[in-house]
This record gives sequence, C-alpha cells and structure tokens, in this order.
Amino acid sequence: MPDTLLFPPLNSWFPGKERPFTIFGPCSAESEEQVLSTARQIAAAFPNNVFRAGVWKPRTRPGAFEGAGEQALEWLKTVKEETGMPVITEVATPEHLEACLKAGIDMVWIGARTTVNPFTVQLLADALKGTDIPVLIKNPVNPDLSLWIGAIERIERAGITKLSAIHRGFHSFENISYRNAPRWEIVIDLKTQLPTLPIICDASHISGTPELIQSVSQKAMDLDLDGLMIETHINPAVALSDAKQQITPEVLSKLISTLVIRSADSNDQDFHRKLLELRSRVDSADDVILQSLISRMHLIHQIGEYKLNNHVTIFQRRRWEEVLKRQIDNGGASGLDAEFIKKLYEVIHEESIRLQTEIFGRK
Ligand code: PEP
Ligand code: MN
Repeated sequence: MPDTLLFPPLNSWFPGKERPFTIFGPCSAESEEQVLSTARQIAAAFPNNVFRAGVWKPRTRPGAFEGAGEQALEWLKTVKEETGMPVITEVATPEHLEACLKAGIDMVWIGARTTVNPFTVQLLADALKGTDIPVLIKNPVNPDLSLWIGAIERIERAGITKLSAIHRGFHSFENISYRNAPRWEIVIDLKTQLPTLPIICDASHISGTPELIQSVSQKAMDLDLDGLMIETHINPAVALSDAKQQITPEVLSKLISTLVIRSADSNDQDFHRKLLELRSRVDSADDVILQSLISRMHLIHQIGEYKLNNHVTIFQRRRWEEVLKRQIDNGGASGLDAEFIKKLYEVIHEESIRLQTEIFGRK
C-alpha cells in the first residue's frame, strides 16, 4: 500500500465528534428491551456515541448464543431513531452486509475471526463495492500485522474511504493477565506504516475483565489512538455473551471520567522549546549509545580473530551468563528493568555471534 494513502479522520465521518471517538454498547443484541435500555443510558451520558451491538455472533464453540440475527437490526434502527446515536454491528458474510445496508445501519465492523481469512475479506470487499458505508477492521486473532494491513487494503481497494482499524489484542499461548495480549508495538508499527489511518482500541476484548479496561483505555489514549470501543450492558451478570468483561453504563461513565486525554501536540511556545532541548539531549545520548556499540563491535572483531587463531569456539556459555548478569545488576541498581536489559543484550550478543561466525567463515 503506498504510504501516500490518505484516510479521512474520524471526526470528518460524523462532524462534531471529539477524540476519543466512542463505540459503546453491548457485546450482543439480546432482546429489544436489553438493547433499548442500554442505549438510553449510554446516550444520556454520551450523546455523541456510536452504539454497538453484535447481531451475528462468532462463537468459539457451537451451542452458545449465536446472536438474535436479522430481527436485531430493527432494534438497532429503533435505537437510532430514539436516541440519535449512529449504530454499528459486525458483518462476516456478504449476506450480513446486504441486510445491514437494507436496514440503514450506519457503520460495520469486520471481526477478528474474519480478518484472518483473506477469502472472506475479499468476499466482503466485493460486496462493499459501490457503497460508502464506513468499515472498521479488527486485527486478526494472531499477531500478524501484514494480514491486518492486507484486509485494510482489500477494503480500501473496493472504494471504501471511511476506514478505521480496531485494535482488540492478540491471542497468546502465554499465561497473561489480559484476555488478548495488547502487543502495543504492533499498533505503533501500524501507525507508522499507515499514519493517517484512524485506530480505535477495543479495551474490552483486550482486558477480558472490567478491572483492566481503565488502564488499557488510558494507554490507548496516551499512544494517541483515536477512539475506544467498550462493551456495555444494562446487566452484565446475565449477558448472553462476554458476561465477564461487560460493564454497566454507570461504571462506564465513571471510567471515562477518569481518563486523561492528552493531545499529540501543543501550541505553547515554552513547551516546544523545552521539548526541543530534551530531544536534543536524547539525540546526544543516542550518539553515545551508537559510539559504544561501534567500539564494542571492534573489540568483538579482535576477539573473533583471537579465538579463531587459538582454535576456540565462538560461544562460551559461562561468559555469556556473566555478561548478562553483570549488566542486569548494573542496570537494576539504576532502576532499569531487568527484562529490558535482557532483551537488549540478547540482540547485542546475537550480533556479536554473527560477526564472529563471519570471521570464522572467511578463513
Ligand atoms: C465483539 O466485538 O463482540 C467480537 C466478537 O469481537 P472480536 O471479533 O474482536 O473477537
Ligand atoms: Mn464481545
């Protein structure tokens, strides 16, 4: 995708909406009563909200509640008429999309289990041709940025201009406190590759539990993401899907009021002067790091030659353990995170081994 590609900002889709752009509403539309009572409370606190509710639900195992289906589109229409909030739901097939377009649903999202499949995304892209409905694309369940960008690209090539990504975290085999690992570095990478693409953070599916939603949302705002999707249910305890992570409209209001929304820039001259000064000091520190690395690699070069001439192996486990321990202790004494030092030294060590292997190979 050319990096000159320009996506319109979220506040141009629905003028008047400020950052964060919000998408609050239940995981699933369960009944007209549940949808409307949740929507009324959300609209009272967040009149500019876009109301979400899943109509067709992708469930991991068969037999669970799979959504109320097409009848729920009527409930969403009522939400829109009564509260004025635009409405959004998930589409996974061209038939879902067609039903949404017919019902006048304002926006659609493509779910994580659909983004993983290029065949299905292409079917949706073909069905979207000739429409101008805004489309939000969740990341695939696996941490594959190319697959995510590929899905965005397919929809963009279908002529859809109002596009946004939704970050909902990634499946992890490790024992983590999140339902889906946030892997923020992947989102930063997406932002670097497609700088104008809006990104919304689905704090609910990352968290999996109400306790983590605030900190995940704050982090998303601090990384300058554009909006938040948070699952909100009038009575989470009896929700037919994702009961564990949904919060009431009341809890949602409190949570949002605690968020600190900082802007990515400031007009204050003093702020800019001070920032410039700090940044030039960071640049100097970076220069010192690089000079040290150059000196280190020169020494590694000499060591490589020396080992080769003396018939000694490149890698000596005990020495590597000593180096690592020494630096973890050194850094730890100044408050540096041990895990960070370990990762840093693993990269440095890998390069040292590569250099010496090259020397050994030459002779
Ligand atoms: C959802 O938003 O309810 C949902 C099914 O999400 P995901 O596709 O991220 O699992
Ligand atoms: Mn859900």
